Amino acid sequence: MNDIELRAAEEQFEEEHHDARKDKPEKAVRIYNDSPLLAPVDIYCMNCKKDYKRVAVKRHGIDRGKFRGVYYTVCPQDHKVLREITDKRRDPYIKNSVLLNKEWRQIKGDFKGQEGYEEKWGKMEREEKDLVQEKKLRDNFIKKYV
Ligand SMILES: [Zn+2]
Repeated sequence: MNDIELRAAEEQFEEEHHDARKDKPEKAVRIYNDSPLLAPVDIYCMNCKKDYKRVAVKRHGIDRGKFRGVYYTVCPQDHKVLREITDKRRDPYIKNSVLLNKEWRQIKGDFKGQEGYEEKWGKMEREEKDLVQEKKLRDNFIKKYV
């Protein structure tokens, strides 16, 4: 992606998510405002299937009626990648990053067997299993019917 294409992509994003900040002055906006304009971010590129560290610029808009703030950048191969600022639960990095998930397993492993493990991680582990199960079902469905 060259400078002109990057600018065009940014403009398109701004257009799709125009003028959000006035509409919903709430927690998401505060989080967004407290985030620096430029920040080093960890990204996972779905096209390259690789983890990278990049500098990203923050952008905001309205997405399905809700304020949405993201960090926007491109990978070294010029693929567009977003990180969620205001809605961490839908941040694709959390789900997809190989590095992060390796770290995550390590952290969980370190705590295993300790007092309070079930309380802290048990629920998350079960949810994770549900997600994996759900993905399997979806993949099978797609294979069969699409
Ligand atoms: Zn890429």
